[in-house]
Amino acid sequence: MPEPRRTLRSALPPAPAAALSLLTALTLGGCVPAAQDPGQTPTGPTPNGQAAAPSGQTTAPAVPNASETAEPSGTGPADTPEALVAAVRQDALREDLEAIERIARENGGHRASGTPGADATVEYVVAELEEAGYEVQLQPFEGTYRENTAHAFTLRGPAPRSLDYTVLRYSPAITAQNAPLRAPAVADGCSSADWGGADLTGAIALVSVAGDCSLSTKSAVARSAGAVGVVVYNDADGPLYASLGYPHEDHAGTVAVSGELGRDLLAAARTGQARVDLRVDEKVEQRTFVNVLAEAPGRSQDAVLVGAHLDSVPFGPGIHDNATGVAAVLEIARRAAGSGPHEHPVRFALWSAEEIGLQGSRHYVDALTDAEAQRIALYVNVDMVAPVDTDDPVRVLADSGRPGAERLLADQLRRDGETTAVTESTGWSDFGPFRWADIPATGLFSEDDAANHTPDDGPQNVSVERLERSTRALGHLVGVLRDDASALTAR
Ligand SMILES: [Zn+2]
Repeated sequence: MPEPRRTLRSALPPAPAAALSLLTALTLGGCVPAAQDPGQTPTGPTPNGQAAAPSGQTTAPAVPNASETAEPSGTGPADTPEALVAAVRQDALREDLEAIERIARENGGHRASGTPGADATVEYVVAELEEAGYEVQLQPFEGTYRENTAHAFTLRGPAPRSLDYTVLRYSPAITAQNAPLRAPAVADGCSSADWGGADLTGAIALVSVAGDCSLSTKSAVARSAGAVGVVVYNDADGPLYASLGYPHEDHAGTVAVSGELGRDLLAAARTGQARVDLRVDEKVEQRTFVNVLAEAPGRSQDAVLVGAHLDSVPFGPGIHDNATGVAAVLEIARRAAGSGPHEHPVRFALWSAEEIGLQGSRHYVDALTDAEAQRIALYVNVDMVAPVDTDDPVRVLADSGRPGAERLLADQLRRDGETTAVTESTGWSDFGPFRWADIPATGLFSEDDAANHTPDDGPQNVSVERLERSTRALGHLVGVLRDDASALTAR
């Protein structure tokens, strides 16, 4: 998921933004598949370019290359849904998680799009897909990269001290010196009424994270009252890793502190004597991101598309969110390789820049012609599918308009002993751009847990057993639909 649930209510506009720039043909350093002719420009494939079976094609192309897989084409053990489910290997999933965690560790603790950790993640999935025999397609695109670079927050008085804090994602830049720290009469700060008409000109506003509005709203409300910056305090002990949800000119520069520090600051603010220095810098630039695509062929043109986002937030390694989804998609791609040919192509997509506005999946959908969009029978999104908290079920995304597909996922989860539910998501993920374009989209997900989007989203935040079950559910869906897409609409 791109953002904590708390900030998601208004995290994204209800429709895709204007089309991003046209595909740019460029060389992508280490991301170019090794097997590719180095003289061949990796033109960004349209989603339906080389990756889709041409019209009327009746023989399996060399994607995946049967000679590179263990089983001869057409007789592989993973030809049936049952065989594909049974072929899922927990140790392979574990290896993916470990590899991705290592990438984060070696690249500053995260894999945020536009940074070396994200590039290394792309290289990893490309290598895995190529090793399975796929001809990997890269879809580069220009997107907006934002980073809060230098920042500082100190209490000047009444008792000077340095402060532990985090910067909210998408915070605009701010420089405030010796600014008064002000708290609203109602801690939420969700409306100007909470501020009782106070004039906050030049002040830093101190509000609780709690309340029935987004942090975006709190920041904008304080700014409209004159505040130059906002400090959000946690409603629990420990630091707060949060986001404004999206960049907007109405936001004030916003940072977050722990519940303990929040209580101290609140007491200081109530004396009327508290003054702070707050500085946040923001770097905004266009960068090139890349989606990774591969396809198992089919006789018809109507494809099933399975996808997961590659990137983490800059706060942590992103192992539950979303190395689990990446591993599930990779594992089904590996086990489906060399099988068939089947009736329907199965396309695998690993998206970049999900955490910064679903930019990868938006770009893919924006680049589709109407005819190409109509040939996507279903998009299946996989995001955070192995929660360690057993009270948190792996859920099936409802309202896809394809109840048969939702049931294929839920049935396999139940057969494997999961308590699951078919529910609407409380947040956005890469299914959004597909739905906005009227392409049926379902998926697997779980509710955001406290460790997501923090440094604690490491291997300990994942149940590998549940990841195996989620992957088996994905395998069941893919195994059925690649031979019979009518199962999509089965009642
Ligand atoms: Zn996610």
